[in-house]
Amino acid sequence: MKIIRTRNYRELSKTASDIIIHEILKKPNIVIGFPTGKTPLGTYRNLIKEYRRRKIDFSKIRTFNLDEFYPLRKYDQRSYRYYMFKNLFRKVKIPKQNIHLLDGSSKDADKECKRYEREIRKNPIDLQVLGIGPNGHIAFNEPGSSPSSKTRLVNLSPETVKRSKYFDKSLTMGISTILKSKKMLLLASGKKKAKAVYNFMKNKPDKAFPASFLKKHRNLIVIIDKKAGSLL
Ligand code: PGA
Repeated sequence: MKIIRTRNYRELSKTASDIIIHEILKKPNIVIGFPTGKTPLGTYRNLIKEYRRRKIDFSKIRTFNLDEFYPLRKYDQRSYRYYMFKNLFRKVKIPKQNIHLLDGSSKDADKECKRYEREIRKNPIDLQVLGIGPNGHIAFNEPGSSPSSKTRLVNLSPETVKRSKYFDKSLTMGISTILKSKKMLLLASGKKKAKAVYNFMKNKPDKAFPASFLKKHRNLIVIIDKKAGSLL
């Protein structure tokens, strides 16, 4: 595990987008796993800036998102699909067929999750970008999630329901699905994440704190800013 500590959110976002761009230039048809939430917004802004400034080709990139609320209408503005198009996909040219998202409007959640697993098996993830929840969740693998879990429908913890405001269920990549990625980039910013970062660093892999399972991975980069690292 490599840990990069930055002064602030701005530097964290720049560092993360520099790593992503480096990987894209190395492998133009890279498969990238993207997270949603507040943390990656600065990274996405930087990616768009660099894409325009350096005219980087994104046309061969393939993407997978980590999760989606369930159930919702496909084009619901509260969906992560909407978030991704608004914050990244509408601003860079990635062919639509290369963008993989969990469909929160699917009638059969189990079938949808199996479809997603198959797609990931066909397009193994080279670089998975991740945030961390204050309760240690990774994607929507809440405390209690098994390290062998696959993409599935889950109930969100009361704490996450409060943060997400609208939903109490989600489709999420499983922990084993995430751990298959060749490289992982975990981002944590701000005081609200300080305890989670502390627990991540100190805890042995344990279901009570699902992010701790990432520590088993051979190629994990953790980027934390000063506030997120303030309890270390
Ligand atoms: P955040 O969410 O980036 O909005 O803090 C991260 C998470 O809950 O996984």
